[in-house]
Amino acid sequence: MKKLEILAGVAAGLVAFLALRGLNLFPWLLLAGLTYFLVTSRGQLGDIGRKKVGAVVSHRPQVTFEDVGGQRVAKRELMEALQFLKDYDRARRLGIRPLKGILLAGPPGTGKTLLAKAAANYTDSAFISASGSEFIEVYAGLGAQRVRGLFEKARKLARSERKTAAIIFIDEIEVLAGRRGAQVGHLEYDQTLNQLLVEMDGLKLDDDVRILMIGATNRPDLLDAAILRPGRFDRTVRVDLPDREGRCEILNLHLKNKPLSPEVSIDTLARETFGLSGAHLETLCNEAAILALRKGNEAISQDDLEEALDKILMGEKLEKLPSPEEIHRVAVHEAGHAVVSEALRPGSVAQVTVSPRGNALGFVRHAPKDDTYVYPRETIEEEICILIAGAGAEEMFFGSKSTTASNDFQRALDLAKRIVSYGMSPLGVVDRDTASPEVLAKATREILDRCHDRTASILKKHRMHIKEIAQALMKRESMPGDELRSLLQRDYPGRWRWRKLPSYRGKLTRKVEEAARG
Ligand code: ATP
Repeated sequence: MKKLEILAGVAAGLVAFLALRGLNLFPWLLLAGLTYFLVTSRGQLGDIGRKKVGAVVSHRPQVTFEDVGGQRVAKRELMEALQFLKDYDRARRLGIRPLKGILLAGPPGTGKTLLAKAAANYTDSAFISASGSEFIEVYAGLGAQRVRGLFEKARKLARSERKTAAIIFIDEIEVLAGRRGAQVGHLEYDQTLNQLLVEMDGLKLDDDVRILMIGATNRPDLLDAAILRPGRFDRTVRVDLPDREGRCEILNLHLKNKPLSPEVSIDTLARETFGLSGAHLETLCNEAAILALRKGNEAISQDDLEEALDKILMGEKLEKLPSPEEIHRVAVHEAGHAVVSEALRPGSVAQVTVSPRGNALGFVRHAPKDDTYVYPRETIEEEICILIAGAGAEEMFFGSKSTTASNDFQRALDLAKRIVSYGMSPLGVVDRDTASPEVLAKATREILDRCHDRTASILKKHRMHIKEIAQALMKRESMPGDELRSLLQRDYPGRWRWRKLPSYRGKLTRKVEEAARG
């Protein structure tokens, strides 16, 4: 740096001196500028050309299929597809055309990379991995050059490890193999993809190194049809979010090296983590261990795991504390959600909390009995009732609603609209584009009204329970589902009188109607 500064100073002094002597410096300055540009740009281009693609895992990856929790179908499909690499001679005798590519498609964090590594281990292949984005450059021809380089590197690696097979894993393959002509500056993209197709077409059964491509993507819909045609990536393996059994297996895998308190129930945790990926579950186990460390405990407790789950679902606990009035309102709101949820789906609440996390001041964590994949109209209407119950409870106790409910209303409205769109309303199958907005709004309002009446009657029946739950929440922030259920069993003697709720129905209905119109 210093040298450069001195050089620049000397050059500036020289230029000034020569200019004073009346010398024409223009051609010299032009020459200097041109030389500078050529030197710097050559450096850059050279770097790009030299950039290597693909992280080499030169030893056999340590991951085995036993390290992948759940994903029974994906594992079976993959193992079957790998048989030709594993039992090459038999496959050859049977005249099996070897697979050149396998596509692993599914949401992020479900174990696609793990499966690819396990595949390399299972088949005793050399393993090389790269990401689709590593091939994309603005300079024409470089992507294609890198694809060629990657195949070459895989062959070399296998030979150096004395292996007869290599697996090339490309993550985010949709970046490299997206539909041709779709990208801006698409010529470079197209050349790169064309090169991949050429390399795959060139793979032969009698090559000294048999290469199998494994691509992973979250967006199979973006892939070019040419890549999916038989003879290229002709097997697609779905790697979905784990079901309950799968979550249990993944939790067991990630907790096996951690000390656990005797009361820890992995089964309960698996029930409460519907919709979470393997990566989420791994983070949950890690966060729980960090919490135990922070508390100075020797083992991870169920509370640590539950708290880690709250953190993953809702975000970090916030420092800011709402005022007692706000906490009271939030407690009543959450108690409303929890009570209606239990009334409609007994055993569904895992925990009610009023500690501020992420964007929420409180929340109810649900633990559905079983994973649900099909939603009949009744189930969606129950969901709407649970969503509007928070605002209903607030109105019952405070005579008004608050902004706490805005997100609930939006979601309730979306669900009601979905009932209409999916042909589950009395209108039957409708085309939203041609149906009159008034007819659609009326059908939506009828659903919301029906849900509202149902919610109001449940809330009314459990008014005293809501009050008690809210008081308990204000004292100690959260209440586990079991405690909530035993509290709901309590009978209140006749001396309790329901408060009159004259404006309750009207206000809530108007709000919902306004939202439906909007
Ligand atoms: P992405 O699509 O974002 O690239 P991915 O599907 O490739 O994600 P991985 O990288 O395989 O996901 O998983 C990330 C981490 O999550 C793994 O290192 C592992 O700790 C954990 N994990 C994910 N799925 C599983 C699983 N089925 N069994 C065990 N651990 C898992």
